[in-house]
Amino acid sequence: MSFEIRSYHPHGGGRRATPPLCSRAEPKREAMAPATVIFKKARYDAALTSIVAEMLDALLGNSLQPGMRVLIKPNLLMASRPERAICAHPLVVRAAADYVLQKGGHCRIGDSPGIGSFEKILKDGEYHQALSDLDVTIAPFTVSTKIDIGPPFGRIDLCADVADADLIINIAKLKSHVQMRLTLGVKNLFGCVVGLKKTEWHMRVGVDRNLFARLLVQICQTVHPAVTLVDGILALEGQGPGKSGTPRPIGVLIGGNNPFAVDAAICRMLGTTPDTVPTHQAAKALELVPDIILTLGDAPMVTGFQFPVIAPLEFGPKLFRKFMRRHWVQRPVVNSAACSLCGKCHRHCPAGAIQIHRQQLQFDYDRCIRCYCCVEICKEGALSTRETPAGKLLRHLTAAGARLRARMHHMHSGGSRRCDNDPTAGQSR
Ligand code: SF4
Ligand code: SF4
Repeated sequence: MSFEIRSYHPHGGGRRATPPLCSRAEPKREAMAPATVIFKKARYDAALTSIVAEMLDALLGNSLQPGMRVLIKPNLLMASRPERAICAHPLVVRAAADYVLQKGGHCRIGDSPGIGSFEKILKDGEYHQALSDLDVTIAPFTVSTKIDIGPPFGRIDLCADVADADLIINIAKLKSHVQMRLTLGVKNLFGCVVGLKKTEWHMRVGVDRNLFARLLVQICQTVHPAVTLVDGILALEGQGPGKSGTPRPIGVLIGGNNPFAVDAAICRMLGTTPDTVPTHQAAKALELVPDIILTLGDAPMVTGFQFPVIAPLEFGPKLFRKFMRRHWVQRPVVNSAACSLCGKCHRHCPAGAIQIHRQQLQFDYDRCIRCYCCVEICKEGALSTRETPAGKLLRHLTAAGARLRARMHHMHSGGSRRCDNDPTAGQSR
């Protein structure tokens, strides 16, 4: 397979347009190794198996060895027919699973769907049909384990399948997204947060788009897929990522060894700057986007892609949003016993929300933008984040409501199979 080789700089000539989240923080990292992103024209037909195999061969090299436990994480957002372009197409998933088996790996396919029962998603999405002759395990993510994704979030619950896997293949769908503009490789891995835990994160950080993007980026970085494939053969534009979106044939499969590079390259293909996507901004601020992205293959020039009208993560009038941030979003708190009053957090706070008054650190929570730079910066470990009482209460109420709806949904669907997935479990992918 030969590819035309081109390259571009994701930051537009090497300058960083967006300051890091923590603008005066630590020294710059060493330059990252170039990432590779491959574009290949494709259709949902018999040739797809060899296209995916060639792509995975090029991206994985020898890293997939016989006996390895491989987790495939497709976007299985909701029960929908493949032609609705909401989930990763079953033939793309099949081709990846087939490749894993050919290499002698043990293949597990899973997701924690945003909406509805896993069984129905497999049935309506034709996954059963596509995978019936392959020796693979298909199961929803149900068990969580604590994994440290870094400050300010710390140890969070991610599905145990991620920790158990030797290698992860991330299969996203190219879709518009009314809250994050696009959902591509990075955002797809939010599905590694199991069921109701997704709702919890929305309650804790979801009213702040940048903070939510940062959570997605740190989850992606922690899950660390070896390959990210994005199914853009039949993409979704308009008011995606669910049934309000409009299928848009683009006819391309994209794959890469770095999800941040994959997303950036797709933005270019769609004729938009990656900086318009909050997850890219967050990844850039955390210095996770490679300086050089090598693009191989035939990236089509997509014109007129319909980006969504962005919906606010917050709701209600502006004054109410301020109230929400103050009372619902987790906030930084100080352990005075550990604080040496060095003043570093005060000097670095971008919002001027930290004062030292009478030998005490004080926060102005109205000013605080919840960037959590202070938590990262404090070398004494004196700062942490804490849920607000109102946020906690709201989270419990939401979770209880969701459990009730899940139970009713289960009863109405005839109780044929127990499913740990919450029909309303959080952010759509
Ligand atoms: S950086 Fe840490 S030790 Fe220094 S003043 Fe802030 S909380 Fe205290
Ligand atoms: S006090 Fe608030 S705004 Fe200031 S650094 Fe901490 S989290 Fe960010």
